Amino acid sequence: MNWSNTQDKLLRERARQVIPGGMYGHLSTSLLPADYPQYFQRGEGARLWDYDGNEYIDYLCAYGPNLLGYRHPEIEAAVLAQLAQGDVLTGPSAVMIEAAELFVSLVSHAEWAMFCKNGTDATTMAMVIARAHTDRRVILAAQNAYHGADPWCVPAAFSKGTLPEDRASIVYYDYNDEESLAAAFDEHRGQVAAVFATPFRHDTFVDQEDPNQAYAQAARRLCDEHGALLVVDDVRAGFRLARDCSWSTLNVEPDLSCWGKCFANGHPISAVLGAEHLRKAASSIFTTGSFWFAAAPMAAAVATLKIIRDSDYLERIVAVSQQLRTGLAEQAGTHGFGLKQTGPAQMPLMLFEDDADFRIAYAWMTEAVKRGVYLHPYHNMFLSAAHTEQDIVKTLEVTDAAFEAVKKRIDSLPPAWA
Ligand code: PMP
Repeated sequence: MNWSNTQDKLLRERARQVIPGGMYGHLSTSLLPADYPQYFQRGEGARLWDYDGNEYIDYLCAYGPNLLGYRHPEIEAAVLAQLAQGDVLTGPSAVMIEAAELFVSLVSHAEWAMFCKNGTDATTMAMVIARAHTDRRVILAAQNAYHGADPWCVPAAFSKGTLPEDRASIVYYDYNDEESLAAAFDEHRGQVAAVFATPFRHDTFVDQEDPNQAYAQAARRLCDEHGALLVVDDVRAGFRLARDCSWSTLNVEPDLSCWGKCFANGHPISAVLGAEHLRKAASSIFTTGSFWFAAAPMAAAVATLKIIRDSDYLERIVAVSQQLRTGLAEQAGTHGFGLKQTGPAQMPLMLFEDDADFRIAYAWMTEAVKRGVYLHPYHNMFLSAAHTEQDIVKTLEVTDAAFEAVKKRIDSLPPAWA
């Protein structure tokens, strides 16, 4: 193990001079173990390299965008070909229409698509369309669910600089709890524009939860009864559970779905997809951005969506994910650790039993990072179609050594945030 982070420390030092806090947002390592690299020089397939030359098998996939492998040759070629024609122009290129046609052909509830840049643009746009359509103000969202970083949806813990008014019409219900959703509808009778739901419960710091069918169906039924819209926020999970909206696996069709992160394999583009009856409302709102219609990310989306449609990428992700899950469960058992692996195997969250202050998770994952496997101690992870069986075998060698190392010092571990 000849891991070091000298260069990363120097970069952090330089950043502190010119970037507030050194780094901000979800890619900041400020809450991660101190040794985690903040900066990355390069990515290829399922691998990352930091500035100290350390190579990692990456289980974050850029927090989702890497679906098929960093620098996927076909997708990069499509982007370069489009860049040679132009990217940000005075109007969109025809490739936008092709991207919308392909997207709509994959997602069964959708008849139209509108593109934007980040997931937050998409969730905000869905909210505005829902309000325009219903002429109502209230949005029901699950307690602690993440829908982005705009003032209306930024998590309360990070809401400095926002106003209570920004969230005045957002009402919270409990995920997977049909009764709490029904009660929220009752309390705001005639005012609910939309229910937002993530495909499964993927909040940070707590075990993930699969959606129960009764909750998903109740969400659909209650929206219909009350004249509200159902919005599935597929920004994080999109195309990792299905080649369709994630709730298609539960036979529940939303009115609107929000997409981001991975449908252009990491190129910057997001989208709202909608059912026919929302076409008019969608065309009645004003929404835009200087870079929303950039053609190169649209070309990346077309290339990625074709691979999603035509290849076995999903089955391959699921297979390696199961291999990892099974291997880790066996290892944890052998070493006597209560490892909890929750959520879909391809988007796993790993927490430990009896680890309220995250000391075991932090120690184990730091040992793994220093041996070349990048894991996350409190956020769900992501696997990609570039992860191979051999990567999993190598990963399991590393995690085995990490369990062994942690076991030796289990009685002297410091809490994660001392
Ligand atoms: N919705 C969900 C479910 C997300 O996971 C995220 C991002 N993690 C967003 C919305 C916001 O996306 P972005 O960070 O691209 O604005």
